[in-house]
Amino acid sequence: MAWKSELTRILQDSQSQTSRLRFDEPISKHVHFGIGGNAAAYFEISAVSELAAVANLKKRLHVPVSIIGRGSNLLVSDSGYPGIVIRLIGAFDRLEFEGDRVWVGAGVSQPRLSKIAGRKGLSGVEFALGIPGSVGGALIMNAGAWGSCFGDSVELVQVMTDEGTLIELNHDEAKFGYRHSGLEEYFCVTGARLQLTPGDVKAITNRTNELYKRKIATQPFAEENAGCMFKNPPDDSAGRLIDECGLKGYRIGGAEVSKIHGNFILNIDHATVEDILNLVRHIQKTVKREKGIELEMEVKLLGF
Ligand SMILES: Cc1cc2nc3c(=O)[nH]c(=O)nc-3n(C[C@H](O)[C@H](O)[C@H](O)COP(=O)(O)OP(=O)(O)OC[C@H]3O[C@@H](n4cnc5c(N)ncnc54)[C@H](O)[C@@H]3O)c2cc1C
Repeated sequence: MAWKSELTRILQDSQSQTSRLRFDEPISKHVHFGIGGNAAAYFEISAVSELAAVANLKKRLHVPVSIIGRGSNLLVSDSGYPGIVIRLIGAFDRLEFEGDRVWVGAGVSQPRLSKIAGRKGLSGVEFALGIPGSVGGALIMNAGAWGSCFGDSVELVQVMTDEGTLIELNHDEAKFGYRHSGLEEYFCVTGARLQLTPGDVKAITNRTNELYKRKIATQPFAEENAGCMFKNPPDDSAGRLIDECGLKGYRIGGAEVSKIHGNFILNIDHATVEDILNLVRHIQKTVKREKGIELEMEVKLLGF
């Protein structure tokens, strides 16, 4: 395929020592659920020029391209992904503080951002220590917990357009909503500037640690999962509804509704993608029948 040799050339032409390109790569290695088929190509990109070259390739040859972060909110099809899966590293893993503002690359992990901000006495991302995703994933999903969300601190977001140009969007243009943003319409999210609030280092780190402890006490962390499977319906809790329908511990194949928190589906014993989806459908059908409420999936699908 022409695009594969062009992709190899993009890597050869770039001076980057850290970018890595693999063909026929199992995506299961890169997502928290630990399941799913192979990507035709998997490219860990460390330079803006490489990313722009892939945007150009996509536009010219119509190759499917998908960006992933830490894969903590993703379910990948058993048949894999027929195009290029990109993960951002290197230049996109930048974290720079200037007063109470921070420039954070899309490849930075949310726990790292949360920890370092706390140590610098900056408040606003305490909730993110327990979210095992990247900043790119946090911006796309408007990730959040305990009443706070990522979009709250965002001053501007940098994205790459389909033409391979970097542009900046202000907070309103990013269109943050509940576990949603308007950023999916761009080729890639590359970073953001956050406005944090100065405070006492000890108080901020205590709060960060306290929220983390509360999270690991109330949500499953040991088994493979993708976080909350469903969005909370307005003024309600998907976990509570699932619990009230008696579904905690319900199992299909190797997939099980967590006994700790009803909104988590766990891969407890070599679950297939079909097991997970059958369990999703069973939960949706039961909650609709018992409670009259439609649960919408929060977890994103790739390759379906
Ligand atoms: C144990 C556990 C606990 C969790 N707790 C929470 C929680 O408390 N609150 C919460 O909101 N979420 C939670 N999650 C879900 C998940 O961690 C978040 O949604 C996180 O922000 C996703 O980031 P990611 O880098 O893993 O994104 P991925 O799962 O890799 O991707 C998610 C989506 O974003 C897109 N994407 C990722 N990066 C980019 C980019 N740079 N440019 C364009 N598109 C991109 C992907 O294509 C995909 O559509 C949890 C997950 C787990 C496994």
